[in-house]
Amino acid sequence: MTDQLQVRPAQKDAKEALASVPSGFLADSWRAPAPGGVLTVEDPATGEAIATVADCTEEDALAALGAAATAGPAWALTSPRERADTLHRLVASMHAHRERLAWLLTLEVGKTLAEARGEVDYAADYVRWYAEEAVRPHGRSTVAPDGRSHILTVAEPVGPCLLITPWNVPLAMAARKVAPALAAGCSAILKPAELTPLSSLVFAELALAAGVPAGVLTVVTTSAPAGVCARLIADERLRKVSFTGSTPVGRILLQQAGQRVLRVSMELGGNAPFLVFDDADLELAVHEAMIAKMRMGGQSCVAANRFLVQDGIADRFTAALAERMTAIRVGPGWEDGVDLGPLVDARAVAKAARLVEDARERGATVVARAPVPDGPGWYFPPTVLDHVPADAAICSEEVFGPVAAISRFSTEDEALARANDTEHGLAAYVLTSDFDRARRVAGRLQSGMVGINRGLVSNVAAPFGGIKQSGLGREGGPEGLHEYQQFKYLSMPGFHAPAGGA
Ligand code: NAD
Repeated sequence: MTDQLQVRPAQKDAKEALASVPSGFLADSWRAPAPGGVLTVEDPATGEAIATVADCTEEDALAALGAAATAGPAWALTSPRERADTLHRLVASMHAHRERLAWLLTLEVGKTLAEARGEVDYAADYVRWYAEEAVRPHGRSTVAPDGRSHILTVAEPVGPCLLITPWNVPLAMAARKVAPALAAGCSAILKPAELTPLSSLVFAELALAAGVPAGVLTVVTTSAPAGVCARLIADERLRKVSFTGSTPVGRILLQQAGQRVLRVSMELGGNAPFLVFDDADLELAVHEAMIAKMRMGGQSCVAANRFLVQDGIADRFTAALAERMTAIRVGPGWEDGVDLGPLVDARAVAKAARLVEDARERGATVVARAPVPDGPGWYFPPTVLDHVPADAAICSEEVFGPVAAISRFSTEDEALARANDTEHGLAAYVLTSDFDRARRVAGRLQSGMVGINRGLVSNVAAPFGGIKQSGLGREGGPEGLHEYQQFKYLSMPGFHAPAGGA
């Protein structure tokens, strides 16, 4: 595979990181999937092909499921401590391979090295959290109200899982699914996005080296996710599908899973409102707005998609945000001093451009537009739009790019009506110095997560997830482990049951 790499000679780190990626592995060995096509990975900063990995077929995927079904029962019988120790070794290994993983993330997603290192740490934190959770008691014991029976509830692993991840945070999303699945005692097939398979392959390689038995974790890289996943979901041996990605694909998977009444977790799209009230601390509001908007260059499901700003603070907020956005230095993610890398591909650039143009045509004004490098690469200028009308497409579609769309409001009720006017309900943000208002507004926002005077809601200890069409289930926290457990209850005679029972 090394021969097929095309990396600029100066990028020694990049070359080494790419050369270390396994080409794709399945089942009970490091064998490549059945000979077939290859999946080509491109660097969004240059548009160049940088690596190839196996393009798995449906048969390859079924082989992976066979391995998961075979290896799963023994893994389920390991002690919680053994699983925890394995995951702790994986954490150490991720830290030891931090630079290699970070380079792969920069090369496949386009994010800056600083952000990529942050993703490696964040991903390792999920593994550590579930290493710790693995040994916590699950289940409960109680006595029936009539005292006649004792109720013992025990957690069991659900069985082989299909874990489908998106391209924007490929390593963290893989870790957020794989770690709780393994901690619960499940075997898993990881299906990364076709744009970003590299970090997932290395993550799985490290997991196997840390002691995860062959077959318990496999990776299926494919250019045909629809057929491959449908085939797996239809197979009786699969017990669960966990998906992070867009709402339209989530709907398709829910329909397929419904045919088999399969356990599902769905982390879907968002359309986060960022509410700034007149009484907000301006400096704090702008600082947190930059985090909520610009983490991952706006390519995040919890990215602030709509800034709703009260009339009294709107001019000052807009001017300060415009200043910060214009100062962003855009360039290749690996270059020193660069704050923002490219978007992931040409489609992402076209979508952001379409949404900005649509808003402009409907009356929005462009108040900031940072410069981007000439030449190749999928760059999009950090942009601030003001006076965005409610009917602009950007108010209902995820922009998934560095565009801040500001609309103004006068009353709290108006702000809430606009904030909740979406089919999505993932994250929302409230900026105010009034504690009562913060609680009141947070309570009325229709979303799974609310940041109060904070632009960052993601945390390994928190139940991440949405309501409405943003998904089902939660990842992170103790709740994330339950997604991979089924509860069985044992009914036993109570201490006070009459002899012979009733
Ligand atoms: P996507 O839905 O296009 O793809 C996600 C994954 O699904 C990829 O692995 C892809 O190969 C696979 N896929 C595509 N079509 C499929 C099909 N028919 N059957 C089975 N699998 C299929 O999403 P994306 O463009 O990779 O990611 C961006 C989306 O993900 C955004 O909407 C974003 O909000 C969402 N997202 C949500 C969260 C969350 O936690 N809620 C986190 C990150 C991203």
